[in-house]
Amino acid sequence: MSKSPISAQLREQVRRRAELPLRCSYCQSQELVTGVQLTIDHILPESLGGVSTLDNLCLACWECNLRKGSRVSGFDDQTQSELRLFNPVVDEWNAHFAWSPDGIVIQGLTAIGRATIATLQLNRSSLTRSRKLWRVAGWHPPSA
Ligand SMILES: [Zn+2]
Repeated sequence: MSKSPISAQLREQVRRRAELPLRCSYCQSQELVTGVQLTIDHILPESLGGVSTLDNLCLACWECNLRKGSRVSGFDDQTQSELRLFNPVVDEWNAHFAWSPDGIVIQGLTAIGRATIATLQLNRSSLTRSRKLWRVAGWHPPSA
């Protein structure tokens, strides 16, 4: 399977479709806050036949994109089951995830949410450390 390149035009369409502030579709880290341009993630990975069309693309930070890799499912400890990952194009973030009251930790509201948190490590220590600082500055959590 050869990779289909994402044109500059398609990249721009993905960015224009996204809610502001621009953020990772998974961990919600904001591009403006991290200073690192978001990547374009293939929701169904190219290695599994995913194509470069708007409905299969979303914004993701480098670290979430790397951890997602070619994965399409993850394990939820609570239900002891393997589930598909959160799909940012068809699923609502707020339906599957919520911020802890202090805004530092992403909590899974559903089995899909929990499986995605575990697989992408959405509460990795590098993020929780930064979230504490972002919160002090009033930059976090992102409000839509
Ligand atoms: Zn992320």
